[in-house]
Amino acid sequence: MNTINGKTDLLSMLPDELEGLLAGMGQPRFRAQQLFSWLHEKRVDSFDKMSNLPGALRERLAAECEIAPIIERRRQQARDGTIKFLFALGDGNTIESVLMHHDYGNSLCISSQVGCRMGCRFCASTIGGKVRDLLASEMLGQIYAVERLTGKRIDSVVMMGIGEPLDNFEQVERFLALVHHPKGLNLSHRHLSLSTCGLVPMIDRLAEKKYQLTLSVSLHACDNETRDRIMPVNHRYPIEELLAACKRYFARTGRRISYEYSLIAGVNDSPDQARKLLALLGDQNCHVNLIPVNPVAETGFTRGSRRDAEVFRDILNAGGLSATIRRELGTEIDAACGQLRRNEAKKEGSPVCG
Ligand code: SAH
Repeated sequence: MNTINGKTDLLSMLPDELEGLLAGMGQPRFRAQQLFSWLHEKRVDSFDKMSNLPGALRERLAAECEIAPIIERRRQQARDGTIKFLFALGDGNTIESVLMHHDYGNSLCISSQVGCRMGCRFCASTIGGKVRDLLASEMLGQIYAVERLTGKRIDSVVMMGIGEPLDNFEQVERFLALVHHPKGLNLSHRHLSLSTCGLVPMIDRLAEKKYQLTLSVSLHACDNETRDRIMPVNHRYPIEELLAACKRYFARTGRRISYEYSLIAGVNDSPDQARKLLALLGDQNCHVNLIPVNPVAETGFTRGSRRDAEVFRDILNAGGLSATIRRELGTEIDAACGQLRRNEAKKEGSPVCG
């Protein structure tokens, strides 16, 4: 069972687990349904508001349990409407969530860890290392908080914020069970993407679950020499092993993989590298998402011109590989993963930043 400050973390619990908890307090089954509804449908933040629960039970819940607190610390809004939130968790750690508006609805990018230990050289989230994993309630809480703060309904969720979701597998699984619960957010896994830097054994573990989500794989290079240079995870799971796992994933789930490829000037963005990438992925039913790298002061990496990106894309498309350049949202608001948190930490002189 998850705990927050030594108390039971209610928002992380599935209905049958709530039943068990309340049975232990001598309560009938229907109380669990009432509690689940207060937490996930009505989304109250205090036990006082749970008006159909007996007073004594409310007091006991307040003494022993916690509803994961998520507090808005900062907000940045871009001209295109993209909003980036800096949230404080119960222990004061901060994470980011980004709300984007597409023609198909509102999409929220959520964090899965405080910081990250994967060490990708171009990424701001990993600079201070990993502080801790997020609880399922804190992943779900980001969605609930944004819906509450903006009055907007979230139509799709991308797990592409701070952290490596497959490095926090159990909480992510719990989050996935909660997010599509019909009495909760009721969000289909088809409206959810999960992005990984390529933890091969975890990709296999995820495949076994046959979730209908979209798996995004951060490839970012077409040969091991380049990938070693920018993604330390490649030393452990080189490209051949990663792509073999992706093929197994597709065979098992039938879900097309989306590869992410951040274009970094002079590192991985030449026409020759586009041709190599085509040779590498050409036999797969997949999609390539090209992302002009977001410059992060500490990394020294920069992006090439728009034309360079288009040439790269056209080579892939001409070879029959589906590839698009990601529409850029909110570029003027530190939209790259972890930049708001990092800049905020630098300002405050905090030693914990990522
Ligand atoms: N840990 C997961 C998800 C978090 S990052 C992963 O690695 O996939 C989401 C995506 O943004 C990843 O593809 C990541 O490599 C990419 N990314 C991180 N920093 C970036 C930057 N500065 N510019 C462009 N893409 C970046």
